[in-house]
Amino acid sequence: MRIVLVDPSSAVQRAMTRLIEEGGHDVLAFADGLEALACITQDRDVRALITSTLPINISGIELCAAARKLSGTRRALHIVLMSSTDDYYLAVKALDNGADDFIHKPPNPDELRARLRLADRVTSMKQQLIQYATIDSLTGLLNRRAFFDSATEACLATETGKALSAIMFDIDHFKRINDTYGHEMGDRVLTAVGTQTKLTDGIAGRLGGEEFCLLVYGTVADALECASELQQSIRALCFEHEGQVFNITCSFGVAEWEQGDAIDRMLRRADIAMYQAKKSGRDQIIASDTFTLMSNHDEWRGLHGQMEDALKLQSQSSEIG
Ligand code: GH3
Ligand code: MG
Ligand code: MG
Repeated sequence: MRIVLVDPSSAVQRAMTRLIEEGGHDVLAFADGLEALACITQDRDVRALITSTLPINISGIELCAAARKLSGTRRALHIVLMSSTDDYYLAVKALDNGADDFIHKPPNPDELRARLRLADRVTSMKQQLIQYATIDSLTGLLNRRAFFDSATEACLATETGKALSAIMFDIDHFKRINDTYGHEMGDRVLTAVGTQTKLTDGIAGRLGGEEFCLLVYGTVADALECASELQQSIRALCFEHEGQVFNITCSFGVAEWEQGDAIDRMLRRADIAMYQAKKSGRDQIIASDTFTLMSNHDEWRGLHGQMEDALKLQSQSSEIG
């Protein structure tokens, strides 16, 4: 387990580091609490923080609170406050400010190592639960909820000036693949599309069924280029079922984040463009700036419904024909 240790005294840092390393852990030691926090922010492999009450620049209690806020619901981080006083109120305050544990300084070596084994067990279990809750098991991409959480964070960060675009895409005639080659083959196709999607930098999610979304940092022109590469790599996939070989295509809709946009507004534009790509014959990429966004949500729902109906009719008639 990688552990950040915070104490203003280099002698304490050295002694504690030796103790912790003997338990088989990695230690990154800091005197400055803000530097420690920056390290935890950047290094997602850090799974525990042990802080004394008086680091440089921030109090131990404040550091516990900041680290807890940083870990949120998406990261397993075990937080421990260490104090040379046996102050009952301090322990309560630490636990109420996000700490998971409170230990005496200097700690008893056996007790410290046992508490770290406990931290290892608990954080491993939390990591597993976070994985189950956020990752789509078939494709390895973010699931719908986790994608929307990450996308919302990305939109908030975009307020600071970075360009951001969404690429929505959906496998063409996927139902036929299930119907012709079986559901298991359909699953293999979804997995392969997920693997291709992961090769592109960005935030990628499976929104449901055979519909995906990729957020890329860049303008609509950058996103069109990404979509084109993805389109080609998906076209190049080759599947085989009982001697029959087949390929797949996707339809893509692209939209750029605009000042004041919420995530659902940008995705709605990408979704409309994607349905337009379906309507224009599938295996197409369409950017939303070629359309006017319906300002009225009901109007959009009406259009979306009409498009889905039209596409179903089109699919049925081509299946019959
Ligand atoms: P279009 O080109 O218009 O997108 O047509 P489509 O056939 O791809 O779309 P449609 O919405 O008609 O069918 C999607 C199918 O995807 C129906 C559903 O049974 C199947 N599906 C949804 N989730 C899964 C999954 O996890 N595995 C498999 N194998 N199939 C799935
Ligand atoms: Mg489809
Ligand atoms: Mg679909």
